[in-house]
Amino acid sequence: MRFYGDLADLARGLDRDATVTVPLGTSRSVKDVLEAVGVPHTEVGLLIVGDGPVGFDHLVSAGERIAAYPPSPMLEVPGLLRTTEPAARFVLDVHLGTLARNLRLLGFDSWYRTDADDPLLAEVAVAGSRVLLTRDRGLLMRREIVHGHCVRSQDPFTQTVEVARRFGLGPRLRPFSRCLACNGELVDVDRGSVLAEVPPLARDAERFSRCTACDRVYWPGTHHQHLAGLVASVRRSLADDLGGGT
Ligand SMILES: [Zn+2]
Repeated sequence: MRFYGDLADLARGLDRDATVTVPLGTSRSVKDVLEAVGVPHTEVGLLIVGDGPVGFDHLVSAGERIAAYPPSPMLEVPGLLRTTEPAARFVLDVHLGTLARNLRLLGFDSWYRTDADDPLLAEVAVAGSRVLLTRDRGLLMRREIVHGHCVRSQDPFTQTVEVARRFGLGPRLRPFSRCLACNGELVDVDRGSVLAEVPPLARDAERFSRCTACDRVYWPGTHHQHLAGLVASVRRSLADDLGGGT
């Protein structure tokens, strides 16, 4: 098997050509063979065996050469297993709390609970057609998981940019439209309706919004400047990808 692009970061035992030879016992699906060297099926966008593309259930026979490519918006080829999916709804495992908060800050529906175990995460991903974000490859290898991403970075900001790139989120950012605490959507509200709930120093804020799920009130305060800086940094990182540099 030969791994292209960032799949080479995941596969174990590669030689200098990003190729690994996998011993076959009984016949196995290409999904099993991929995952035997550490690459979850969620990370693969295209598989070529011989002259043509195959699906994950292709049974590998001895001597076959398999090329594995990551998902890509650039590949317009028959047999593509996944592109950079348009879905922008996520479910995150318990270790990715800051990433979940950052994605909510950018406006993306991000399910996160500190007590979620693997079966619950998988169920939420499948039931809600959500993209599962985790660093746990075993979780991504579950057969029922259709869309997922193995988060490579350990730094929350870098993770945020990584996910935004992977799922083409740049044009779809809606900063400050979602509750950081509970993932609910925010709506603008009148000053008068929140005055009793905000500290005196916040009463002169330009605008207020309220979470439709948990009723928390938001306003642009000191903390807001920090968050706005984070949004701007993400935008800059994504703009650099396009060669704009601005
Ligand atoms: Zn809320």
